[in-house]
Amino acid sequence: MKYRDLNIQTQREAPNNARTEGFAFLVRAGYLTRENVPTQLGERSLDHLRRLSNTPSFLFHLSLPIISNDSESFFPLPSGSTEVVHCPSCKYTERLELARFAKRSLPGEAELPLEKVLTPDCHTIEALANFLGVPKEKTAKALMYSRNADNKFVFAVVRGDMQLSEAKLKQHVGEVRPATAEEIEKSGASAGYASPVGLKETLIVVDDLIPQSQNLVAGANDAGYHLKNTNYGRDYSAEIVADLTQATAGDACMKCGNPLSVVSAISLATRNAYHFENILLALAETHHDPKGLTLPHPAASFDVYLMHVPGKELDTRAKAEEIYNAIQSAGISVLFDDRDERAGVKFNDADLIGCPLRVTVGEKALKEGMVELKPRKEKDNQLVSLDKIVERIESFLK
Ligand SMILES: [Zn+2]
Repeated sequence: MKYRDLNIQTQREAPNNARTEGFAFLVRAGYLTRENVPTQLGERSLDHLRRLSNTPSFLFHLSLPIISNDSESFFPLPSGSTEVVHCPSCKYTERLELARFAKRSLPGEAELPLEKVLTPDCHTIEALANFLGVPKEKTAKALMYSRNADNKFVFAVVRGDMQLSEAKLKQHVGEVRPATAEEIEKSGASAGYASPVGLKETLIVVDDLIPQSQNLVAGANDAGYHLKNTNYGRDYSAEIVADLTQATAGDACMKCGNPLSVVSAISLATRNAYHFENILLALAETHHDPKGLTLPHPAASFDVYLMHVPGKELDTRAKAEEIYNAIQSAGISVLFDDRDERAGVKFNDADLIGCPLRVTVGEKALKEGMVELKPRKEKDNQLVSLDKIVERIESFLK
């Protein structure tokens, strides 16, 4: 392809809406508009990645620091919108809402008798724990839903110090929505003072830590009151006992016991699909230096950036055209900067666009039958004779 055919527009400055360096360079190098829309060059790069994705383990050949499991691959990025739990030790990786972790149960206790206590203005677990002088892990938190499929009232219970994962709940009961005040009342529960004790026509689902936790404070289903010493099995039981809670950073890994991290990321691939825009961004985040992108082979859509420096005596452009044809005939992808621009402008653009190799046809070297070859990640040029240039490019890309 020729530079002018792709209508490449590079930018001197990073866009002011850039949240990451990779995005800034994709805009500056002319792959994306400031509005994050792929340009012609961007579309070509995406097409290149699409073709490449037909090769086995394609993602793992892009030199990206990927974290993954059997069903999804992620690229850690602070501005990413997907939260992922990752174990730095054993590499366990899962979306936050579905991540498993090793739960710590409290020491077992003898079951104490139920006791109804007045707890005015205790609408939150914090307020309740403060008022009664108990730690949050000695309380039961109630969350009430209605199942979309049949409007069944669903009552979920997790320990007061933990967060329910709605994604995990949905895996067990199907899609749900928050219960209405009417539905809560019909079940016999009391909003803000709810517990599973004594409910009617309710699907009760408890976190697997609840049966191991004795003497929890729970709602009394009576406004203003709570029950001390509720015990699973004695006071209520559940249709489903399952892992319902969300991991937090520092929780122990289920597989190896080491502390888990929670990282922001973007999804690169699921079992069914690749997210090529995200893969392009991940490439730019990973492969750049202060001058621009440094895309590796085979991730770069063009392996060679070919340019001529307009000469005084020799027609460098015609020679570059010959080299362009020779490189293309060898099956190597090449972007030919065919503009009659100053060398400095072209060098800057070559660095921004970030092809793995740059070939420069300049008058001085050409008089000796040579051209300049420069790997993007190296500092220095090499002079290569014209009849060896294709061979040298091929050996570099091996
Ligand atoms: Zn682990």
